[in-house]
Amino acid sequence: MNESWDNHLKSVLSQLEQQQLLRQRGVISETVASDSTWLDFGNNDYLGLSRSSKVIQAIQNCTHPSWGSGASPVLSGYGDAHRRLEASLAKLCGTESALVFSSGFACNVGTLAALADDNCIVFSDQLNHASLIDGLRLSRASREVYPHNDLTALRKMLNTHRGSRTRALIVTESVFSMDGDEAPLLDLAELAEQFDCGLVVDEAHAVGVFGNHGGGLLEELGMADRVLLKLGTLSKAMGGIGGYAAGNRSLIEYLVNRCRSYLFSTACPALAAIAAQAAIEQLTEMRAERQQLAHLSSYTRLRLKQLGWTLIEGRSPIVPIIIGSAERTLQLSQQLRLQQIYVPAIRPPTVPANTCRLRVSLSAYHTQNDIDRLISALGQQ
Ligand code: PMP
Repeated sequence: MNESWDNHLKSVLSQLEQQQLLRQRGVISETVASDSTWLDFGNNDYLGLSRSSKVIQAIQNCTHPSWGSGASPVLSGYGDAHRRLEASLAKLCGTESALVFSSGFACNVGTLAALADDNCIVFSDQLNHASLIDGLRLSRASREVYPHNDLTALRKMLNTHRGSRTRALIVTESVFSMDGDEAPLLDLAELAEQFDCGLVVDEAHAVGVFGNHGGGLLEELGMADRVLLKLGTLSKAMGGIGGYAAGNRSLIEYLVNRCRSYLFSTACPALAAIAAQAAIEQLTEMRAERQQLAHLSSYTRLRLKQLGWTLIEGRSPIVPIIIGSAERTLQLSQQLRLQQIYVPAIRPPTVPANTCRLRVSLSAYHTQNDIDRLISALGQQ
């Protein structure tokens, strides 16, 4: 390798290591994660659908002639499996139409960059996911970041800046990925309507978890028709891989024609779409699992608070234990691992400096005994 590049890369890595911010792959191996003596609180498989026998059966029964789709969806990469999945997603989201991507990240980056042109101003929550931030960075829109969930600050910004562009968007997650709290969606919709903004909601961590059919917080709040664009992923509660955008017909047609991460990327394999389809069919009916998740979430939060840990309030399966320094957070994660419990240490740039945390991610397949084991291990720290 060119020497100056090699030196540069090594110096960045060594700085990260000194700051305890270096990441590694395979912190726990797949075999460990599926070993029943281990407790895994580090994935987003909220309903356990990644291991569903019905999903695996659907994959095994697949008669599709090829694994790869071979081309962009606007060439030959798109077929019946994608069409069927999009119809199911549109139904789940309560929209006219939906569009499937190979990942949630590609979906978010591409759709925001395509929608937000230079006649647009975007108001974006400070804690939005990297994929939303990057989509807005790629766009030609003017951008204003509002403090997390702060409606007063947002209203002020709208008053000051909304008039500067023809069109506007308000962009938020519904359940925030690293804080596990919820956006005030009804209030945001009201502001969006008052200031003539399109509301964009990323439901990545809410679909499958909230709503009578698992349609997310938007379903729970009965406000599907107040949102311009819904974003989601097939890789969390749906247990597979891929992402999607949902909205009305013209919006989806527009994205098919303008979204560069859709147009210029190979379609996701039909097999992934078939697996997601089988997952959705179950997800809509998994009310008992949603109740179990809600119970586990409140039980975990209660027990942790009793032990004196600092949490971020919420009712989602994402339970963040705020520790502060990267060093102490890594240490705690490591000590839990010695007891065969995996809870990831979340550090910058994923979260702001000095708010490093253990992110406990619950799944419906966890039991109260599993939580007790975690609590008892944390009680020894
Ligand atoms: N949105 C949010 C809020 C996320 O947390 C994530 C994944 N961490 C994504 C989008 C990206 O989804 P995917 O993993 O399917 O690329």
